[in-house]
Amino acid sequence: MTVADWTTGEPQLVVLSCGGCGNVWYFQRPFCPRCGRLDPDEVASAGRGRVVATTVVHRAPSDEWRPLVPYTLVLVDLDEGVRVMAHAASGTAIGDTVGATFEERAGRLVPVFTPA
Ligand SMILES: [Zn+2]
Repeated sequence: MTVADWTTGEPQLVVLSCGGCGNVWYFQRPFCPRCGRLDPDEVASAGRGRVVATTVVHRAPSDEWRPLVPYTLVLVDLDEGVRVMAHAASGTAIGDTVGATFEERAGRLVPVFTPA
């Protein structure tokens, strides 16, 4: 399955939803991880949520990310009920209410959360 979201260059977070049991999840897979039903619904996320963890990356994972350090990564509980990892504005803190924007970093479009 291919979802039109930031991983395919679209400025959007997408949540998958099961029409059978109502489960929602983030990582793309063509079946419900709870009940196994096929063909989940794609739901465009509003991109709003609350920060539950933060870290600052000082050692880049590859040469293309090295010019960007230090940068902030966060875990965000989206209002749609899933947890996502993404970039964030410097200084973003646990408990902050945030919204997703999208920026090109290291040659790819990535979600970047900023305080709402
Ligand atoms: Zn299900």
